[in-house]
Amino acid sequence: MEVQIDWLGNTSGKLLIAGPCSAESSQQMLQTAQGIASNFPSSILRAGSWKPRTRPGNFEGSGKEGLQWLREAGLQTGLRTITEVATPLHVEEAMRAGIDMFWVGARTTGNPFLVQELANALRGTDVPVFVKNPLHPDLQLWLGGIERFQRSGLKKLAAIHRGFHAFENSGYRNVPRWQLVHTLKSIQPELPVICDISHIAGNTSLLASIAQQAYDLDLEGLMIETHFAPEQALSDADQQISPDELARIMSSLTPRVKSFEETSAMEQVQRIRISIDDIDKRLLDLLFDRVSLIEKLGELKCENNVSVLQLDRWKNIIENAMSIARRHGLNEDFIRNVFIQIHDEAIRLQSQMLQDFAERNTRETKD
Ligand code: PEP
Ligand code: MN
Repeated sequence: MEVQIDWLGNTSGKLLIAGPCSAESSQQMLQTAQGIASNFPSSILRAGSWKPRTRPGNFEGSGKEGLQWLREAGLQTGLRTITEVATPLHVEEAMRAGIDMFWVGARTTGNPFLVQELANALRGTDVPVFVKNPLHPDLQLWLGGIERFQRSGLKKLAAIHRGFHAFENSGYRNVPRWQLVHTLKSIQPELPVICDISHIAGNTSLLASIAQQAYDLDLEGLMIETHFAPEQALSDADQQISPDELARIMSSLTPRVKSFEETSAMEQVQRIRISIDDIDKRLLDLLFDRVSLIEKLGELKCENNVSVLQLDRWKNIIENAMSIARRHGLNEDFIRNVFIQIHDEAIRLQSQMLQDFAERNTRETKD
């Protein structure tokens, strides 16, 4: 399905949202915007005016003044503008300042009360709104945020994947969850999804590879924090790049065609897909046979009062599977996960059987 982003005025190619993390001064906004516009005249200029900081006392944005700098830089360069709104007052002030589009930050998406207030404040307008994913990987919360704007009658909506908070060190500032994005896209097929590579990376060295991955997965665009002098940035200095670096990264990316239909490989692809469908069917038949045997074993466990978990047997199964996986050069984590799922399901089935068996026995002894 072709995602409609013509409301973004960008029917060909990917959307680019670039600009500093925060609006810091009129000169910073203008110089950055000029650098971006010279290579990407149809991009959207971003800047936060109210910054959600983890602890008070850090730079918390320039408020209303920042909006003016953003607006002015947009006017001077012909770029459309976008800023973050987190309260109805932000919406009011950003609208009054003539900012073209809004994004909802990760911390706000996680709060349905606030999202509803924003949706109410925007009801009756046709302002484009980009909804970032919440901090933790809760697809329902992300979807819920988008739906609140849809129910307010807003039509120009997009999602932004900015990665998810991780407790353990993952190498990313916020870990991308591509599978979650695919699920979002399958539920809302017409919703454009933009990838905020800067907040995923947290540094500049990972930007290009994350951007390429977003292209490979056919996301509709990128958000990239860009500052004319990144080392002087008052927020997120580690992850911002200069307009020149932005141009370098963008030109290093390989675009992909949308589907095989646009290539000469179509016939071959169709043959391969038929074989894959056949393998999937055989996999499912085999799983069905396996489940039947698990149930037979379950009956024997009931009759002989034997515990469901047989640790030595399980170790044996997984060791065998892993040695075959290694021989075939299959990804070991993948095979381990598949077998863990299969085993979990067997345990679930047999536990249920033992419980039912016990209940039947109690009932029969009572009768
Ligand atoms: C931002 O875009 O500068 C920002 C604060 O992002 P997030 O809400 O994704 O943390
Ligand atoms: Mn930022």
